[in-house]
Amino acid sequence: MSTSAGTTAAGLPDLAAAALAAAPVALVAFDLDDTLAPSKSPLPDAVAQVLGDLLQRVPVCVISGGQYGQFTQQLLARLDLTPELAARLHLMPTCGTQYYRWDGEGFGQVYAHTLTQDERDRALTALRTRAVELGLWESETWGEVLEDRGSQVTFSALGQQAPVDAKAAWDPTGERKGALRDAVAADLPDLEVRSGGSTSVDITRRGVDKATGMRALVDLVGVPLTDMVFVGDRLDEGGNDRPVLDLGVRCHAVHGWEDTVAFLRGRLLPHLDARHGDAGS
Ligand SMILES: [Mg+2]
Repeated sequence: MSTSAGTTAAGLPDLAAAALAAAPVALVAFDLDDTLAPSKSPLPDAVAQVLGDLLQRVPVCVISGGQYGQFTQQLLARLDLTPELAARLHLMPTCGTQYYRWDGEGFGQVYAHTLTQDERDRALTALRTRAVELGLWESETWGEVLEDRGSQVTFSALGQQAPVDAKAAWDPTGERKGALRDAVAADLPDLEVRSGGSTSVDITRRGVDKATGMRALVDLVGVPLTDMVFVGDRLDEGGNDRPVLDLGVRCHAVHGWEDTVAFLRGRLLPHLDARHGDAGS
């Protein structure tokens, strides 16, 4: 599949009009943290509004390393959803290892690929041991550093509730997270180890990543991969959005929610409306 997608100066995908026109846009999927909202924070007003506008046109999926509780706090609490719009929203917490959709009254879990107790224990041990060895086990933290999310084990260097500023300052180059990811991956060859948000490393069942979630959407929503668009902030090599790009899905790279709003308002919504106008004329 040729997407004819452009790239940014950093070599990341920049989805231009030609790539949008190359195939229908029948579903748009988003990462959550640093794509739709600042890390662990509620959706800004501008994002909530533009997502509502997008849902009126196409199904939307949000796929994140975060757990479902973050989807309710960051996303659902900020969206003004009618039942019709809610039915077009697909939620994939913990890198798509869980799937929630509207059941007519609320969002309910459709499936969860959970880790075994042995896998979770080994993941927790490896993260703690290597973080201490590498000098990345911080003494001043906000909330839990290690979290067992059932289908995913997560390390957050400064804790789950760390302020955004502190997290941004902890590892601006990604070097510390990368070192921890490499060391832990060597300990757990049977599990998937990825660098996630600004301070986090996520461990899931091997071969289960955001690409798995996107593939599942083909059957769940009935839209082929060629007709999907994905927006994320970690499409770089080793980032937790990267598997979606490697899968061949048309991707657009952003550096935060402001970029996402600009892409949707400036390119995607006008594109969808122009096509709708064509179809109707
Ligand atoms: Mg992100």
